[in-house]
Amino acid sequence: MRSSSSSSTTPADIGKTETFAELMARVQACMVCAAHLPYPPRPILRASPTARLLIVGQAPGRRVHETGIPWNDPSGDLLRQWLGMTREQFYDVSRIAIVPTGLCYPGTVNGSDLPPRPECAPLWHPQLRAAMPDIRLTLLIGAYAQAYYLGKRCGRTLADTVAAWRDYAPDFLPLPHPSPRNRLWFKRHPWFEAEVIPMMRERVGAVLAAGDNGGAR
Ligand code: SF4
Repeated sequence: MRSSSSSSTTPADIGKTETFAELMARVQACMVCAAHLPYPPRPILRASPTARLLIVGQAPGRRVHETGIPWNDPSGDLLRQWLGMTREQFYDVSRIAIVPTGLCYPGTVNGSDLPPRPECAPLWHPQLRAAMPDIRLTLLIGAYAQAYYLGKRCGRTLADTVAAWRDYAPDFLPLPHPSPRNRLWFKRHPWFEAEVIPMMRERVGAVLAAGDNGGAR
């Protein structure tokens, strides 16, 4: 049986250089908030030490929890459409890491997904981020990802944060969640599709292309 102690650094680990595979094994063995989850923990992420783009979303929904594939749902289809990417390009883990704010499905209440578990991002994001030194751009999708990475730099509303994208460049790009439920938001903020999506494609293309020519920075 997995224990919660497997998810944190022990005295024996100090001074030892952990491989990326060992870090991922610790993530996959995490039981830290098991008591609060509707199912046994199933962390769902994709990461590699060569990734250049990091996508940080909210937390897996039920379908993603069942399939084990992040963004394997209508929201993922729209995100890929925004990025102008095929599924093959999107799931190329050597270039694109996908790490949600909460790695395990948190459950639902009254038909809505619960927030990511608050223990998760502070525990795993710093360790994973440190193990992916080539990340050049992080897409912050939705309010939870923005709150974790931007903190007090967030705008008053999600629209304010997304509209102020220049303030967070070049490291971060805040985005709304591409959920079909947000159609009204997209309609009310036409500048997002007209201005932010083309800019995002350009920046993502440049970040990934730089990794194709020997890692020029
Ligand atoms: S949500 Fe995060 S902290 Fe909780 S069990 Fe899963 S990996 Fe661990």
